[in-house]
Amino acid sequence: MQASSSSWAPTTLRQPVLFIGHGSPMNAIEDNVYSRAWIELGRSLSRPQAVLCISAHWETDGSRVTAMSQPRTIHDFYGFPRELNEKRYPAPGSPELARLVCELAGTLSQVVREDTSWGLDHGTWSVLARLFPEADIPVVQLSLDTSKTPAEHYALAKTLAPLRRRGVLIIGSGNVVHNLGMACFEERAYPWAKDFDAAVRDAVNAREYTPLLNYRTLGGNARLAVPSNEHYLPLLYILALQEPDEVPSWFCEQVTMCSISMRGLRLG
Ligand code: ZN
Repeated sequence: MQASSSSWAPTTLRQPVLFIGHGSPMNAIEDNVYSRAWIELGRSLSRPQAVLCISAHWETDGSRVTAMSQPRTIHDFYGFPRELNEKRYPAPGSPELARLVCELAGTLSQVVREDTSWGLDHGTWSVLARLFPEADIPVVQLSLDTSKTPAEHYALAKTLAPLRRRGVLIIGSGNVVHNLGMACFEERAYPWAKDFDAAVRDAVNAREYTPLLNYRTLGGNARLAVPSNEHYLPLLYILALQEPDEVPSWFCEQVTMCSISMRGLRLG
């Protein structure tokens, strides 16, 4: 590791990695089964030195990492109450961690560029507002490069593995099943949504990464469950970081609004 990165943080115990199905931004302020699960999850975590989040809501041409010292809270949604639009998550950033992410990616000839224009989108802050409500832990976001295949995302994620022992909690924020066009306003699930969600769970439990990378093969309903893959891809980042001794722990398993899976995974 380079000199600039070795000054970032000493070696620590391994941090877990999390995939969180974030669903509606309202989960940031509403008391419900999901927000309660995230609060409980936050209480079970040891305090990390920083958080690196891969959010479904930041897609770029080429990989980017937020490198500002004070990232803004981005309200990337419409039609929600004023209380949500006024919600801020004023966590600091970490230019040092951003640099380290670039260095680690570079070890496998992956290019990640530092960004000073984005901030924290709701995929990140709606979840962190529940996990770490004090907003006093530095947060960095890594974008989803739209030019990458699922296997290339997976390979990039593997370069981040050393961060787990440098005090960094890595979170993927998306949804295993995410079809907004077919969503309803009810607490129930379409059969095809449940089927795909269960197929992903079973493949993760069996450590069958190949079908998870080729998710279109996970059943005839994959095109409905994953009509576009930005909400699915953050899961691959977390699976890439699984170590041999780590057994999947599912802290949330509901499918809501007919076509949104809130499934949440903890490894470590
Ligand atoms: Zn989303």
